[in-house]
Amino acid sequence: MSIAENIRRVEDRIAEACARGQRDPAAVTLIGISKQKSAADILRAIEAGLKHIGENRVEEGISKIPQVREAISEAATWHMVGHVQSRKAKHVVKLFDVVQSIDSVRLAQRLSRLAVDAERELDALLEINVSGEASKYGFQGYNWYQDAAVLEGLLDAYRVVIQLPNLKVRGLMTMAPLGADESTTRRVFGDLYELREELQSATKSQLPELSMGMTDDFELAVEEGSTMVRVGRAIFGERT
Ligand SMILES: *Cc1c(COP(=O)(O)O)cnc(C)c1O
Repeated sequence: MSIAENIRRVEDRIAEACARGQRDPAAVTLIGISKQKSAADILRAIEAGLKHIGENRVEEGISKIPQVREAISEAATWHMVGHVQSRKAKHVVKLFDVVQSIDSVRLAQRLSRLAVDAERELDALLEINVSGEASKYGFQGYNWYQDAAVLEGLLDAYRVVIQLPNLKVRGLMTMAPLGADESTTRRVFGDLYELREELQSATKSQLPELSMGMTDDFELAVEEGSTMVRVGRAIFGERT
């Protein structure tokens, strides 16, 4: 199957999941995650109509984003979805449109300062570690609905981050545990959905975006309210 065919197939599956979840397909943005894939593959995807591309390493963005921008007139929106080390934050502000992986107040402050210096606005999502796995980045969100200290920690961080200049906090991002069963995966996505409601009502702010769902679980994520699915392998093929 070609990349173009893969995109159509993923879009169809999103539409079917929307029908099951009684959701509008226009409310779900497909982001193709091109990590470890070439600029040529990204160009094929954009030519096939994909509008959003994500990378998880700053270095890959540095090498591929300028190549892609130079080669094609259609503008894609670039999402950073992996952990950002603070010394690489300046490249992120230069290259990406959205940072989905804000995982500390410090990183948010740094990106905000750099965005002010660059006289631009940067869209941002807060990455929440809902599953509690030690291997995952993100603000600690495990069991937030039962553990008042966890919710308080999230609210404190959120209140600081939404005040930062030139950083527009648009929503939350999470990852389900690798290889988890369906009910565990749904619970992680449902927890993020409820956390969004909680943060919005506690602070009278708006968080329109929920980024959740990858190749193995994007249909469940859509049924649970995802507005952004981050799909790599089902579009670009297996990684080596
Ligand atoms: C790799 C990656 C994806 C896509 O994973 P697939 O399983 O290939 O769909 C999504 N989100 C993040 C943060 C990733 O690192």
